Amino acid sequence: MVELSVVVPVYNEEENVERLYRAVAEALRGRVASYELVMVDDGSTDGSAERMDRLAAADDRVKVCHFERNCGQTSAIYAGIKKASGRLIALIDADLQTDPDDIFTLMPYMEQYDFANGKRTRRRDTWVKRVSSRIANGVRNKMTGDSIADTGCPMKLFKREVAESYYLYEGFHRFLPTLARMNGFRVVEVPVRHREREHGASKYGIFNRLFVSLMDAFVIGWLRKRVIRYTIRGE
Ligand code: UDP
Ligand code: MG
Repeated sequence: MVELSVVVPVYNEEENVERLYRAVAEALRGRVASYELVMVDDGSTDGSAERMDRLAAADDRVKVCHFERNCGQTSAIYAGIKKASGRLIALIDADLQTDPDDIFTLMPYMEQYDFANGKRTRRRDTWVKRVSSRIANGVRNKMTGDSIADTGCPMKLFKREVAESYYLYEGFHRFLPTLARMNGFRVVEVPVRHREREHGASKYGIFNRLFVSLMDAFVIGWLRKRVIRYTIRGE
C-alpha cells in the first residue's frame, strides 16, 4: 500500500498530461513516503492515451488504464479510486486548474476528518461558469439538505475507507462530500487556489451540467433521507 494515490480522470487532455505528471511529481517530491499517480483515460480520441502510456513505461509510480470509449467523469473517477492502493486518495482534474501543492493544504485535516473538499476562493473561470455554479450549489444544497459551498471543486483528499464506501452512479462525482457524510464520515471544506485552464477545453457547458445535476441532486436528497443507521445492542 502506498501512502498517497493521486487519481485523475482524463478525457482529451493531450496538452495537459505531461504537465500534470510534472506538477504532481514536483509537488510530492520528498513530502510523502510513497505515492502513485493513477490516470484513467476516459476514451480519449486525441494523443492523451499514448502520452499516458509513455509516462507509465518510464515511471512505475504511474498507473494508467484506458476505457474502450468515453463513459463520463464519474466512471473514470470510480475506476481510478478502485485501482488506487493509497492510504489516502487525492482527486484532481487533469487540466491543472487546481495546484497539486494544495494536497498539503488538505493533508493536516486528515487528523480530524475523513474527507477534505477544496473550496475555490478566487475562482478563475468565465462568469457564466461562476454564476451557474453558484446557482447550482445553492439549489443542490436545498435539494440534498446538505451544505457544501463548492462541491464541484476538483481538489479533494480522502481516506481509503471513504473510497471503499462509495458506489457511484453517473453524475455522482458532483456529490462526493455529501455521499461521504451519508456514509458516516467527517467532511470539511478547505480553501484552495484556483487558476485558469491554460490548455485544452472544458467538457461541459450549461446544458450538459446544470439541468442534469439538478435531477441528480433530487435523487441524492431522497437517498439521504433513506440512509439506514442502526446500532446493535451490546456491540
Ligand atoms: N473528464 C472525463 N470524462 C468526461 C469529461 C471530463 O474524464 O467525460 C475529465 C477531464 O479530462 C478533466 C475533469 O474530468 O480532467 C473535469 O473536466 P473539465 O475540466 O472539462 O470540467 P470543468 O473543470 O470545466 O468543470
Ligand atoms: Mg476543469
